[in-house]
Amino acid sequence: MRFYIVTIFPDELDRFLSIGVIGQARAAGAIRIDVLNLRDFTDDPHRTVDDRPYGGGPGMVMKVEPFVRAIEEIRSGFEGSLRVILLSAQGRLFSQEDAIRYSKLDGLVLLCGRYEGVDERILSFVDEEVSIGDYVLAGGETAAAAIVEATSRMTPGVVGKYDSVESDSFFGRPRLGPPQYTRPPVFRDLSVPDVLLTGDHEGIASFREAEAWRKTARNRPDLLGLKEEPDG
Ligand code: SAH
Repeated sequence: MRFYIVTIFPDELDRFLSIGVIGQARAAGAIRIDVLNLRDFTDDPHRTVDDRPYGGGPGMVMKVEPFVRAIEEIRSGFEGSLRVILLSAQGRLFSQEDAIRYSKLDGLVLLCGRYEGVDERILSFVDEEVSIGDYVLAGGETAAAAIVEATSRMTPGVVGKYDSVESDSFFGRPRLGPPQYTRPPVFRDLSVPDVLLTGDHEGIASFREAEAWRKTARNRPDLLGLKEEPDG
């Protein structure tokens, strides 16, 4: 799996995507991430990426040409299945199913907006306009990082023990993951549930299953088709 991210903050984003599981997967060659500087695709001496909005209003709008040049350059050198995503608060909501779908591609291009967003004509050059949630971020970089992390976790060879993605929230079913505990067995007056200390694998598995559903009903009744919170 190969990711291309187009941003005006390449160094900051690249550093963030070099830590933890993602950094290890990059080092092992399970994924490849190229973080490209949008300004490298400008053609004026000031490397301009934004301009004033037509029709007036506050803030600046990102110009369409640098993004399109970046897309065309990436596409021209790429063989295999590639999708181009614009990160946008106005996009369709990203989900675990999308992460699974993207993980089966050969490449994913993620375009990060800033300021008031990107000139709407960019939509003629992208495959999808995607949001990570119903809130407005300062830029697409954190959204791109979220999509890279979620997609990479679904890419073979990234998460060591496959078990640890299978029991995760949202994996294969609309359910949250079970709660987890580690040492010490008692912290202040809070004990780890007894069954987890027993070594009884079946007991542990059914405890985790029950807790996962209970937590889903409490925190995300919408996933179970429930409207009201059943236990307050
Ligand atoms: N004026 C825009 C918001 C611009 S925020 C609007 O009304 O929708 C600046 C940039 O941050 C966007 O171009 C986009 O790339 C990114 N961004 C903001 N919120 C986002 C979200 N929820 N999901 C994905 N990207 C987002």
